Amino acid sequence: MIRNPIPWPNGARCACAITFDVDADSLIHIARPQDSFDRLYPITMGRYGPTVGVPRILETYRRLGLKQSFFMPAWTMQRYPDAVEAILKSGHEIGHHGYIHEDPTEISSAQQREAFERALGIHVAMTGRKPRGYRAPVYNANQTTIDLLIEHGFVYDSSLMADDIPYQMRTARGSLYEMPPHWGSDDWPPFAHYAEIGYMMPVKSPSDGLAASFEEFEAAYEAGGFWMGIWHPFLTGRLARWRVVDRWLERIVAERKVWFASLEDIAAHLDGLVKAGTYQVRVETLPYFTQPVS
Ligand SMILES: [Zn+2]
Repeated sequence: MIRNPIPWPNGARCACAITFDVDADSLIHIARPQDSFDRLYPITMGRYGPTVGVPRILETYRRLGLKQSFFMPAWTMQRYPDAVEAILKSGHEIGHHGYIHEDPTEISSAQQREAFERALGIHVAMTGRKPRGYRAPVYNANQTTIDLLIEHGFVYDSSLMADDIPYQMRTARGSLYEMPPHWGSDDWPPFAHYAEIGYMMPVKSPSDGLAASFEEFEAAYEAGGFWMGIWHPFLTGRLARWRVVDRWLERIVAERKVWFASLEDIAAHLDGLVKAGTYQVRVETLPYFTQPVS
């Protein structure tokens, strides 16, 4: 059960979002900056995402009438402008996902601000507006990240895990909604086999790997909650895996009372309820800590 289920539009039982992190080859360049330029295997494994995976994913969304969210490092947006254009042309959302997938916890606050704002400028130049949402590379948001998001007027983050359903984070500087991910419906554990950046996951079959995400959906649906896939086009956009997703989506959209929407739209719906006083959102007060925990 969920203590404070959010009333979704049109009596839907569950709000659903498939979010794709279009990292492409940013992952190898940030991990191995000295020699990544000449490592063709990881470059091509990443390039598959925006060039082959994204068009396939967009075709399914078009057929089923879905508008969804993508998160892209700004470096990747510049390298793959055709993918950006195709995503935007189909009416989907592109959220902030760092400059070149730098981990906020591995760099100084000043470096974090520089990369964050550089990426923001690229989003504005390429999409014509500031993104509404953000997902930290490897979910590694820190307090500086939250402060930057509030300072720049972001509506939501999608990196933190304090609830099953969207909640609000409040600091002395303002507030931000959290659209919570978690590893249960992330495609990295079942599918990422990537020794060059330190991951050696035993690759599961398409249906086994995706079963985890689909079981998470069943629980969210039963409880009247929120389900979100956190996937990557170079992993779940592969032919056999997307075939499983495509068939699952067709069935779920036809047979269940679900609301598939972009995170931007889900956050806007929640914000409307909160501002109208018709829903009491759960609040997490940040920062959690201001010094090392001894
Ligand atoms: Zn990523």
